[in-house]
Amino acid sequence: TQLPADTVIENTRRQVKNACFSFVKPKQTAKPELLHVSPEMLKALGLTPENAEETEFLNVFTGNTVYKNTQPFAMCYGGHQFGNWAGQLGDGRAINLFEVKYNNTQWAVQLKGAGETPYSRTADGLAVLRSSIREYLCSEAMFHLGVPTTRALSLALSGDQVLRDMMYNGNSAYEKGAIVSRIAPSFLRFGSYQILAANQDITTLKTLVNYTIKNFFPELGAPSKETYIAFFKTVAQQTLKMIVNWQRVGFVHGVMNTDNMSILGLTIDYGPYGWLEGFDFGWTPNTTDGQHKRYRFANQPNMGLWNLYQLANALYPLVDEAEPFETVLEQYKTDFEKLSLSMMRDKLGLIIEDDADKMLIQDLEDNLHLTETDMTIFFRNLSNFSLDEASKGLNVINDAFYIQDEITEDVKSKWNAWFKRYANRLKLEEANSEERKQQMNLVNPKYVLRNYMAQLAIDNANKGDYQLIDVLFNLLKKPYSEQPENEKWFAKRPEWARHKVGCSM
Ligand code: AMP
Ligand code: MG
Ligand code: MG
Repeated sequence: TQLPADTVIENTRRQVKNACFSFVKPKQTAKPELLHVSPEMLKALGLTPENAEETEFLNVFTGNTVYKNTQPFAMCYGGHQFGNWAGQLGDGRAINLFEVKYNNTQWAVQLKGAGETPYSRTADGLAVLRSSIREYLCSEAMFHLGVPTTRALSLALSGDQVLRDMMYNGNSAYEKGAIVSRIAPSFLRFGSYQILAANQDITTLKTLVNYTIKNFFPELGAPSKETYIAFFKTVAQQTLKMIVNWQRVGFVHGVMNTDNMSILGLTIDYGPYGWLEGFDFGWTPNTTDGQHKRYRFANQPNMGLWNLYQLANALYPLVDEAEPFETVLEQYKTDFEKLSLSMMRDKLGLIIEDDADKMLIQDLEDNLHLTETDMTIFFRNLSNFSLDEASKGLNVINDAFYIQDEITEDVKSKWNAWFKRYANRLKLEEANSEERKQQMNLVNPKYVLRNYMAQLAIDNANKGDYQLIDVLFNLLKKPYSEQPENEKWFAKRPEWARHKVGCSM
């Protein structure tokens, strides 16, 4: 028998039980149009630039055609949102198309913004151009910065209009709909395990954990209590490594809810993220993060730990013993201290380890808060500091200050004192100035996706000019290299962009 098309219920919103995913069909789009394709990701999937020109490519990566012999699905997950258990969330606007195995790497291919799923709850399953440009550009930029992340293959317009509330005036407006195809070995999140534990579905939980280990952590061996703990330990380590990288480059995720924590330690779900301009431990780009700014820059490592506690709770039924989990969580704290110290040493060009380094770094961080000081410019230019000319330190980093009037005599003397200590510290090192500069420039990027840069690309794109997307995409492929033709992007945020950051919806 053939059911009439409108009785197919695959995508209908519902609570899903005893399952990790639901089969769905992407929405047909009105007039899809590719805006950008990542050559690196094409290659990673075994595709050529010519493939990307084919109509089938356009249709598959915007959801209009389901690739032969594949069955798209949306994943079920729950999550703690801003500290509270939110129950079932799931892929409300993401649809997994298929998996590709190429060059011994397995990639899951997902569309974001391809229509409603059982998990769409009260929302529409769609994405707008602005948030899609932000995800597309930032995830590829993060990869090239050496930060573990999901990737992006393509950015397309759907040709449909999408209605969105405008946060700033309470009105609604139509915007261009868009679809990003994003790629990762897996999109499983902490919340994928949490929802099963919350539903007391331990059978499916075990199946999912075993699947995860077998596919993504095969080195851990056959399922056993010990393997589950080793799995948790590896997730903790990879999560920490990711977050320390965020701290290194000044990335603030903005929504570190457990549904946005990849089980592979990948940066996932580029929503209201932002980049530090002025170095500020208290900053978050997320304007909905309340008074306490839970996900502020300096709190990211703690929030990673908090999220790991929730994952531990979810995995507990498989082990029935708290202590091994507690050991891993304690280790996270020690490792964080160690890794973050060594990350900051790298940023300062310090190879040997000196006991006084911790104080030197803390005092630097205090100084960076004295006046608004651009993080990226500061650390990049610091590599030009010469230990023979400690008194010129301020000149070297002067471009990083936003408001020159604030550089009072008191501020100057604090910086001069710090540079003097830094110069003395550098005398302990073996590397010469040129070697140190090269080392530092490998960890202190010159180019990051400043919030205003993404905004410029968005403003142009909304007017139908997509060139800047390509310019920024290419610029951010070499974030650590000098690019004389792109020097204009190595600059402080312009005044008009102060306090303006992108929105996620
Ligand atoms: P996020 O804050 O982006 O991590 O999203 C939290 C949850 O809301 C996830 O389950 C998303 O899939 C869902 N969600 C976000 N935006 C939409 C949308 N436009 N349509 C349906 N679900 C959405
Ligand atoms: Mg999310
Ligand atoms: Mg999101």
